Amino acid sequence: MDPNAHLKNFQTYLINAKRKFEERWQSPISETVTLDDFKILQTLGTGSFGRVLLVKLRKGESPFALKMLEKSHVVKTKQVQHTISEIRIMDAFDFPFLIKLEYFFKDNVYLCLVMPFVNGGEMFSHLRQQKKFTEELTKFYTAQVVLAFEYMHFIGIVYRDLKPENILLDRQGYLKVTDYGFCKRIGDQRTYTLCGTPEYLAPEIILSQGYNKSVDWWSLGVLIFEMAAGYPPFYAREPMKIYEKIVSGKYTPASHFSKSIRDLISHILQVDRTKRYGVLKDGAKDVKIHPFFKGLDWDAVLQKKIKPPFVPPTKGEGDASNFDFYEETPLKTASKNLFSKEFEHFEF
Ligand code: AMP
Repeated sequence: MDPNAHLKNFQTYLINAKRKFEERWQSPISETVTLDDFKILQTLGTGSFGRVLLVKLRKGESPFALKMLEKSHVVKTKQVQHTISEIRIMDAFDFPFLIKLEYFFKDNVYLCLVMPFVNGGEMFSHLRQQKKFTEELTKFYTAQVVLAFEYMHFIGIVYRDLKPENILLDRQGYLKVTDYGFCKRIGDQRTYTLCGTPEYLAPEIILSQGYNKSVDWWSLGVLIFEMAAGYPPFYAREPMKIYEKIVSGKYTPASHFSKSIRDLISHILQVDRTKRYGVLKDGAKDVKIHPFFKGLDWDAVLQKKIKPPFVPPTKGEGDASNFDFYEETPLKTASKNLFSKEFEHFEF
């Protein structure tokens, strides 16, 4: 397979994908269902924001993940714009390795986002279970994240929250990046917000320098390291110490790392953005043609034609055994529509 042929094909793919994104962005999803249309099966995850439930449409068989965000929490934490942005982006995205919105509705208490149920579990739990991934598996996952970043960045979106907790595995073993809470449409502009997860923050975020998609490439370097080593490159108990390590750019590769993975990581974990792979003049190409990916058929990855090196154990599409057990508590209700004004429109 000729990497140049892929690069050309993918450029055409991205141009079409961006046009489709813009079309969907212009006509955001409308509310066609309500909570009553769903049968709630169990809780898949919880957080201060609300919870994620496994559900089925009463009139259908397919399982879905229903993310319920409490409007009061979104308003109190001043996340209204972020949340509207998260919903609109999830609605307009359409890419094999990105979670997509299937339905959206509000009730008196919650904003409800319905997504396909990705039931292989979080990459995080598989990584902790396996201690570390083989370089073959690391390569397979990295390739999908690279393609997903190219798609987002081409559209002008930065992701800003890459980490194993935000990557779900599907039944086949392919991945889906989830949680667009920190996604932002910035085009070629710079942004300054401090957000993300300490171990994965790029030096320019910590140093309060304006930044762009460079931060996603940095986090990819951290992820590659963590997948192959089983622990992140910059680690300490206190966040301040982590930040010091990150801005120094010093880390120790695991002794078992191959020459090619060391080399790739060293080109991505460059504090100096004028040297960082992913953001140089050839963009993602520097990463994609790196010897670490030698022999990889990028088109076959995109079309999911490669046999995943690891298939998470699942018993059918509705099986939630890869998720932790949560105590079931009743959903909150209210007699009137709370914060209706704040969430009336999707407009920014
Ligand atoms: P989030 O806030 O979007 O990161 O969701 C919290 C947790 O819910 C995730 O870490 C997953 O364990 C679970 N979850 C979210 N979305 C899905 C999905 N589409 N399929 C399966 N589980 C999900």
